[in-house]
Amino acid sequence: MTDATSNAADKSTVATALDTGTGAARSEWAAATRIVVKIGSALLVDRTTGILKTDWLSSLMDDVAALAKAGKEIVLVSSGAIALGRHTLKLPKGPLDLEQSQAAAAVGQISLAHAYQDFARRHGLIAAQILVTLGDTEERRRYLNARHTIDRLLALKAIPVVNENDTVATTEIRYGDNDRLSARVASMVSADCLVLLSDIDGLYTAPPGSDTQARRLDLVTEITPEIEAMAGDAGTELSKGGMKTKIEAGKIARAAGCDMVIASGKVMHPLQAINDGCPATWFIAPSDPVTAKQRWISGQLEPKGIVVIDEGAEQAMLSGKSLLPAGVRSVSGTFDRGDVVIIRTATGHEIGRGLIAYAKTDAERIIGKKSREIADILGFSGRPELIHRDDLAINRAHKGA
Ligand code: GLU
Repeated sequence: MTDATSNAADKSTVATALDTGTGAARSEWAAATRIVVKIGSALLVDRTTGILKTDWLSSLMDDVAALAKAGKEIVLVSSGAIALGRHTLKLPKGPLDLEQSQAAAAVGQISLAHAYQDFARRHGLIAAQILVTLGDTEERRRYLNARHTIDRLLALKAIPVVNENDTVATTEIRYGDNDRLSARVASMVSADCLVLLSDIDGLYTAPPGSDTQARRLDLVTEITPEIEAMAGDAGTELSKGGMKTKIEAGKIARAAGCDMVIASGKVMHPLQAINDGCPATWFIAPSDPVTAKQRWISGQLEPKGIVVIDEGAEQAMLSGKSLLPAGVRSVSGTFDRGDVVIIRTATGHEIGRGLIAYAKTDAERIIGKKSREIADILGFSGRPELIHRDDLAINRAHKGA
């Protein structure tokens, strides 16, 4: 990444950030060819003045250009529209209501897109704006459309810059945070690595500000209930996502076979810093191949129901078998045939997600029963499986764990 380190002043900034780094890139980073980078509002927009931090953006785009030059495909997911727009519109400090956020996003998104276009152009790169709504990633046909568009842009060597279409999103149908959106995008485009640039350099065992014993984790190979418990809920006024949404992002990314890293974006050249092995938390994905359909299933943000299974069914599913009605203890939620449901053990641990073959009212009648009894109970002969193995996305631990 020669471009990114050519400036002596910038080099010293990175060196400071790397004091406890290893000096070498993790193998996952070196091997990644398609990388999604999420940029939070707090990094991009000055909290007090509401002005874009152009020096920082310039250093980020130096790194993006260097990576692109090295043959990597980069997709940016950038926040900042609301933070920029609220300042221009002189909206009051503190939380905004939905209409204020929509108005702020409509104003700020123009400046945001323009800034990316400008800095990309300085490196001879082309920036492309993609605004998505939750529905664009939840509904299969629209999801495939968005995927094709991003694929084509990457083939044309453009840098897609994605954000949520906040201007039309309503409370019930919005991501609201770009952590999960970026994971969904990473899953959608089959990225190898998702970078969450944050105002903190990783996941800590406790909030580092208030607990002196707090320790940063270098590596997460499975998202256990203990890991989830480490995530507080704190976000700042500028950034919606706290550590909780980052863990959610980790789940979506890992299930899609995509590694994720939470690293500090408070340094200049934050991607160069990752290249140099800066302190960070890496979430390593299992190495089992993940099909395109499984990516879509596991990344669904709003599963319609929950299926609680017994131990026998859990073992069978972990060894690659379908879920039969006999292994199910209970079903809840409101789902139709073909909807995505969460699969949990009796202790509440989520072991995966799948497309259920029966609507809730039918599923309730056949759970605990043998598959050959289905026709008699329901009066029609449906599939012997409640969830077929081709329609399952199981959460697997990292192979080496
Ligand atoms: N989409 C929002 C924006 O551009 C940001 C959401 C977030 O902070 O994660 O302002």
